[in-house]
Amino acid sequence: MRVLILGGTGEARALAAALHGRSGFSVTSSLAGRVRDPALPVGAVLIGGFGGTAGLVAFLLEHRIDAVVDATHPFARTMTGNAVAATAEARVPLLILRRPGWVERAGDQWHRVESVTEAAAMARKLSKPGETVFVTTGRRELAPFAADDERHYLIRTVDEPQDELPARHTVIRDRGPYTPEGELDLMRAHDVRVLVTKDSGGAMTTAKLDAARTLRLPVVMVDRPALPTIGLNEVATVAEAVAWCGG
Ligand code: NAP
Repeated sequence: MRVLILGGTGEARALAAALHGRSGFSVTSSLAGRVRDPALPVGAVLIGGFGGTAGLVAFLLEHRIDAVVDATHPFARTMTGNAVAATAEARVPLLILRRPGWVERAGDQWHRVESVTEAAAMARKLSKPGETVFVTTGRRELAPFAADDERHYLIRTVDEPQDELPARHTVIRDRGPYTPEGELDLMRAHDVRVLVTKDSGGAMTTAKLDAARTLRLPVVMVDRPALPTIGLNEVATVAEAVAWCGG
């Protein structure tokens, strides 16, 4: 059974580890190649994309892939769309492995929005000029915040930001997992008044939500892009994905 895992998440690495070395399985993981020093899954790894849907179809046929598991980040909308189209065309079964989104708890003050642009507008509404907004939505969509030169933006990214930055900003380069104590210290040290995040889900980055609850700060939560729905197999855990693969 030749399995292609579309990776880039902890779940994708856990799935590759779970299937690696099992008799009857040959597993290849693929990464987009966005992060300079990515955490690599065990086993064969391809880095750099397939060249759109047509490229993925060609790859599936050439390598006689029997099953694809899309374990990309919930916001990797293009890759998931390509996976749905390419597996349909190549007639290869597809499973989407997507961790559940976060759930609001007592004491949370979340404001759900549909895009980073809306998030930037909401963060401005929830704060005053001179205050600090903590932005954790990634390094490639910062321009919506750059329209505001009145607030200070604390921007945390894994690699160097790749977009226009607000006039008043501090960039912190870091990658999770984070602790609630560490997040509390950071938010206190920078006197953060609003947190902006994507609804990535998972345990690696929930500490910022705990810290925001403790500090009674509003959180601007960018909702996940909708998946194409018809006929998709979707699971939420690595164990379910292993079972689907027949492991
Ligand atoms: P995207 O916008 O959905 O995909 C853009 C292009 O990147 C795809 O068309 C594909 O290129 C390539 N690509 C993406 N994921 C790939 C994978 N796993 N294997 C091979 N090629 C891939 O994706 P993205 O938002 O840039 O995310 C890129 C990577 O970062 C993914 O692995 C994702 O899981 C991870 N990530 C994304 C976010 C986020 O918020 N978007 C956050 C954390 C991590 P081709 O068309 O050439 O095949």
